[in-house]
Amino acid sequence: MSWIKVVSRLDIMETVQSHPNHPLSNQENRIMIFLGGDVMTGRGIDQILPHPSEPFIPEFMVNDAREYVRLAEKANGTLATPVNFSYIWGDALEEWEQLAPDVKLINLETSITKSNDYWRGKGINYRMNPDNIACLTAAGIDCCALANNHVLDWGYSGLVETINTLKNVQIKTAGAGLNQQSAATPAIIDIKRKGRVVVFSFGVTTSGIPASWAAGQDKPGVNLLPNLSEPTVRYIQKQVEQVKQPGDVVIASLHWGGNWGYEIDQPQIDFAHQLIDYGGVDLIHGHSVHHVQGLEIYHEKLIIYGCGDLIDDYEGIVGYEPFRDDLGLMYFVSLDSTTGKLLNLHLLPTQIKRLRVQRASREDLLWLRKILNREGSRFRTQVQWSGHKTLTLEKLPTISSSSNR
Ligand SMILES: [Zn+2]
Repeated sequence: MSWIKVVSRLDIMETVQSHPNHPLSNQENRIMIFLGGDVMTGRGIDQILPHPSEPFIPEFMVNDAREYVRLAEKANGTLATPVNFSYIWGDALEEWEQLAPDVKLINLETSITKSNDYWRGKGINYRMNPDNIACLTAAGIDCCALANNHVLDWGYSGLVETINTLKNVQIKTAGAGLNQQSAATPAIIDIKRKGRVVVFSFGVTTSGIPASWAAGQDKPGVNLLPNLSEPTVRYIQKQVEQVKQPGDVVIASLHWGGNWGYEIDQPQIDFAHQLIDYGGVDLIHGHSVHHVQGLEIYHEKLIIYGCGDLIDDYEGIVGYEPFRDDLGLMYFVSLDSTTGKLLNLHLLPTQIKRLRVQRASREDLLWLRKILNREGSRFRTQVQWSGHKTLTLEKLPTISSSSNR
């Protein structure tokens, strides 16, 4: 019985940089993309920023967004508010500066609006005051995926204001629009001398997106997929073919699945595989779940089924502690733009504490490693601790079915 490595071990970047003749050190073909999961700058986060919205929220139990600030303060100490726009990013700012990704893509899990026209009966309605938009520019966010279950929380006027507010500060968007055509249009980010990153944003009702939020021919809304069937892959394939050029990296940003739990449904796995096999997609950026999930490398391309939250206001909320939703990851994905193949993945463990992103403690980093390895075992991926603050991903060797027969 022999073992065959599907991909060689993913070297950490320092190794590559110290060997100028290493094939991976061809910087021209190397694109580094930062991926963040849910970024929820509404509600409690919005309340600590310089321009909080009206605190009213139409929740079943809570009607004042400041209650979420109080919960966080009760858990980890009083905050001096208002904080400055960059406060919420905490240690992430230094990581971004050091690693200098070419593109930063997040799932923006809030509406940015002054609208009071909240979506009735939803129970949770997130909004951030547009005057707080500087919190996203302070992070240097390039692109927001919007096909999610909160972009319409404050009605159609809220959706339009969200898109316009982001546009005004040159943050690209995908996944929502004034009609189906604009909602489906990918964001394209040109990276000088390296190629382009093309971002498609898709929503799935399993994430809690109401079916009625789907954009129509003359109706604003989100880019909602009808299902995860093969015809849906073909539909995406056609869209990708229309835009993909040599040197383009295509990302499918998918808001799908529930908020809690490690289980990943087989239809999700099949869909992700098909998007890579013939959909023309190079990288799957999945989100909706509030904690990390297992990672997969499929045909040398990365699948993140669920990123977990990068920033939210759940601090102090009880009920889901075993999932440690306060812990998250900053995903730094390096790809070869000529092939879309994964070169390496740096994972920086984080903790949301005092309503900001902080580096996770060593103990929490090791806990995340344990979870990622437990959940990655079905995909034969494993993360290694590089000894400092970073985890790197590798694919374990698989047994060749055709060898030694
Ligand atoms: Zn969501």
